[in-house]
Amino acid sequence: MKKILVCEDEVSIRSFVVVNLRREGYEVVEAGSGEEALSCYAADPTIAMALLDVMLPGIDGFETCRRLREQSRDMGIIMLTARTREEEKVSGLRMGADDYVTKPFSTAELLARVDALYRRLETKEPAGYIEQIVSGEFALDLRTRRLLRQDVSIELTQVEFQILELFFGNPDTLLTRGEILRHVWGTDMGGDEKIVDVNIRRLRMKVEADPSEPRHLLTVWGRGYQWNA
Ligand code: CA
Repeated sequence: MKKILVCEDEVSIRSFVVVNLRREGYEVVEAGSGEEALSCYAADPTIAMALLDVMLPGIDGFETCRRLREQSRDMGIIMLTARTREEEKVSGLRMGADDYVTKPFSTAELLARVDALYRRLETKEPAGYIEQIVSGEFALDLRTRRLLRQDVSIELTQVEFQILELFFGNPDTLLTRGEILRHVWGTDMGGDEKIVDVNIRRLRMKVEADPSEPRHLLTVWGRGYQWNA
């Protein structure tokens, strides 16, 4: 089931993306607006991934992303952002996107990112027998991909889950942003480490009593992050 929703109002860009994804074996559902994307997903919840342009008529790509994420924690979401607008990258991630590709992009670049995210979605089921990784009062449930804190369930996006999985496996250890980037996003991100910071901020909102005074997800100044249970 390689089903991907492509939401872009510019027909020429959409066709280009759709043709290339189909050639790679993806089943593509097309939408020309955010509203249309949401109804496509409502009609077919087996859609595993979405590629969302930011600039759309009606609700924009960020809002579309937020609403899709409300309905599916597991869906892989990639935003298509303008290269010149740094804040677009961050906004998309805040709304729950897993990754972004900046316009203009090459076919190779887009497909690499889509494939990378798709592989991450596919490896959802753990191969081993371990069901939970426990760290202090937290437990990461590998089967449901949720975080439990004293039996209270905390919803995580795919990316947040993978970051925590990395930290839980390496407690009290400095992980550089580069290491986190490579582990979670693969090696083809071109060293854009802001994506790590945004996700750490989002995770802090979920795991810290006071996100501005983190006690678990610590910043190691100028170097990276460290998990302390
Ligand atoms: Ca557009």
